[in-house]
Amino acid sequence: MAADRARKTTLDLMDFIHAGPTAAHAVAAAAARLEAAGFARLDERAPWRLRPGQGFHLSRGATGLVAGRVGSAPPAEAGFRIIGAHCDSPGLRVKPKSPYEARGYLQLGVEVYGGPLLASWADRDLTLAGRLLVRRRGGEPRVALVRVARPLCRIPLAAIHFQREVNQEGLKLDAQKHLAPILGLDGGRAPGAGALLELLAGAAGVRPADVVGADLELVDAQPPALASLREELFAAPRIDNLAGCHAALEALLRAPATARATTVIALFDGEEIGSQVPSGADSFFLDAALERLSLAAGPGREAWHRARAASWMVSVDGAHALHPNYAEMHDPHHLPALNGGPVIKVNAKQRYATSLLTRGRFEECAARAGSPVQHYVHRSDLPCGSTIGPIAAARLGIPTVDVGNPMLAMHSIRETGGVLDQEWMIAALVEHLGRGERRSARRSARPPAAAPRPRSARRPDRRTGASRETPAVRRSGVGRPPSRGRGPSARGRGPAR
Ligand SMILES: [Zn+2]
Repeated sequence: MAADRARKTTLDLMDFIHAGPTAAHAVAAAAARLEAAGFARLDERAPWRLRPGQGFHLSRGATGLVAGRVGSAPPAEAGFRIIGAHCDSPGLRVKPKSPYEARGYLQLGVEVYGGPLLASWADRDLTLAGRLLVRRRGGEPRVALVRVARPLCRIPLAAIHFQREVNQEGLKLDAQKHLAPILGLDGGRAPGAGALLELLAGAAGVRPADVVGADLELVDAQPPALASLREELFAAPRIDNLAGCHAALEALLRAPATARATTVIALFDGEEIGSQVPSGADSFFLDAALERLSLAAGPGREAWHRARAASWMVSVDGAHALHPNYAEMHDPHHLPALNGGPVIKVNAKQRYATSLLTRGRFEECAARAGSPVQHYVHRSDLPCGSTIGPIAAARLGIPTVDVGNPMLAMHSIRETGGVLDQEWMIAALVEHLGRGERRSARRSARPPAAAPRPRSARRPDRRTGASRETPAVRRSGVGRPPSRGRGPSARGRGPAR
């Protein structure tokens, strides 16, 4: 039964990914789920009047989202329980003066966004998605989401006969010369731009004459799919990081509506290009929302600073699973497995925000949920990637742990994940959102590092048999084995329920 539940959760994740070909689509899909569950839409320009227990969401620029539920206690007393993720993914963005004609072909100019594995974009069925700016009579233009449902263009590689050594020397793709997709053949007197505009306007349900601008991306036309012998793996575009967004969203929807602490999720834009965008982790988006939530509960900057000091954040982003063909690229003692459970990411240079305390707290949340956890450290002789965790943690001053589900081919147009991991991640995140309430009920502020362990932490978990540990345990040097949940027994079973 538990495996069925995990599979159902992953099928739901695949639906969410398919609904979110761009960050704007993903934010709209998240907002629709929240509104269906009764979460009220807030406007950053209007005053906020919120009552305890009320769910809310707001977006900035349509590509970032903050949502949550007001706790029964003021944030100054119970703090915030936050989950962060990013909703953008690396890819190719269409240049404004597109399409153009060249040597009998109709092509699109594209720019590289973030760090995609460019080769994976070649010889695939691609289509277009994004936003249209649509003129309105007597009002400001509005933004309409657009997505063409069928394959529309391709980036063909040069044939092997023109590059005989490519398989030995590696495929080199010049971003300016080699990535322009072919949209069709030059239509002679029929201009391609007009035909494309008509197609886009039709897909968005607007009149071509009313479209005054477009912001388009190339996206994979193929829907996500279960893809392995026993359907234990799935393949999809943008697992990094719509899996993190979906986990945050589902945890918020599942968390109790009566919690003392105010729960908040933030889906940031711009992570793949450094997070310095208006709805990015390095902006005032979350910062301002948290401060307003604090001020709505009671006046005073001191209350806001007290709220921050009583808060915790989990940053969810993809993690690297062991790749059997490239095993030497991993640290030999930190080898996360697909379907081995959420991965806690650690880096000495703080490319991940994880600290001793936040790691211990997440491990405890996972143990309570019956979710196994794994640990990741990048090879010491390779530069480590990063994510929103350190940026948001530094900006907000809120202790943060970086976690993520294991995946293969990160930043490929089509990535691979395990079917069991999403449910385990969501279960651990629900504990993170709800656990703060139980802790706050016992104490009005976060316990000092040397505080005695809660009684429940000393009991073995009835569902997993694992003993629960707290940060205080690990401070004494007693650590959990680095890869709990990676053994064959863990791989074959669903989430413990
Ligand atoms: Zn990511």
